[in-house]
Amino acid sequence: MSVTVETAARIAPAAVIVAIDGPSGTGKSSTSKAVAAALGLSYLDTGAQYRAITWWMISNGIDVQDAAAVAVASAKPSIVSGTDPLSPAITVDGVDASGPIRTQEVTAKVSAVSAVPEVRARITELQRSIAAAAADGIVVEGRDIGTTVLPDADLKVFLTASPEARAARRNGELKGKEAADLAATKDALIKRDTADSSRKTSPLAKADDAVEVDTTELTLQQVIECVVTLVEEKQAAK
Ligand code: C5P
Repeated sequence: MSVTVETAARIAPAAVIVAIDGPSGTGKSSTSKAVAAALGLSYLDTGAQYRAITWWMISNGIDVQDAAAVAVASAKPSIVSGTDPLSPAITVDGVDASGPIRTQEVTAKVSAVSAVPEVRARITELQRSIAAAAADGIVVEGRDIGTTVLPDADLKVFLTASPEARAARRNGELKGKEAADLAATKDALIKRDTADSSRKTSPLAKADDAVEVDTTELTLQQVIECVVTLVEEKQAAK
């Protein structure tokens, strides 16, 4: 019988923890979801969690520029993230927040909220517990996953792209009036990246042992294939 167990262990792919970081508009979400779905892994969008807590602050009349008020309120909302890459879900106090967290108002305010250390401590703990519970492995996307949240991840990928490519992609995701001004999209994106990269607590950064993939000249399919190959190599080596 032990032979059967050993054979099964060899055949089943090893559970891997994959951290995918990078600035906005590099294709992180599309890549992370597709890689997780292709390999049967769970998926966690950590940006959605910071957006969710920001949406709660706005809905509850908290001034997001008042770091002390944000810190005090940060423990209050209950944030629950789904981990199915085919239907990522997020609720705040039991209410589906997947639509409201994508508004321009939340996008403009999320960097201020995510810079507050109490917010990061709370969300980081949540992220670690979700990753620990993912028995078959997980793809976690964000800004500080490889550096801070999961420094022992099996694979760390850092996606980059030129500001022009990132703005064009982000504009493609926005609808109607919101998408009209490419220059404004680029400015807003650079402003958010600068804020995320320069905050004191756990800034957007590439981990020393991350594989950097410049996606400027690549199609989404090429980026997905590249990351799937990197994950499979790690699984084979485990
Ligand atoms: O990925 P997304 O654009 O949805 O992230 C929204 C914001 O959440 C980022 O601009 C950043 O301020 C914050 N964030 C973060 N750390 C992460 C993921 C996102 O600070 N791991």
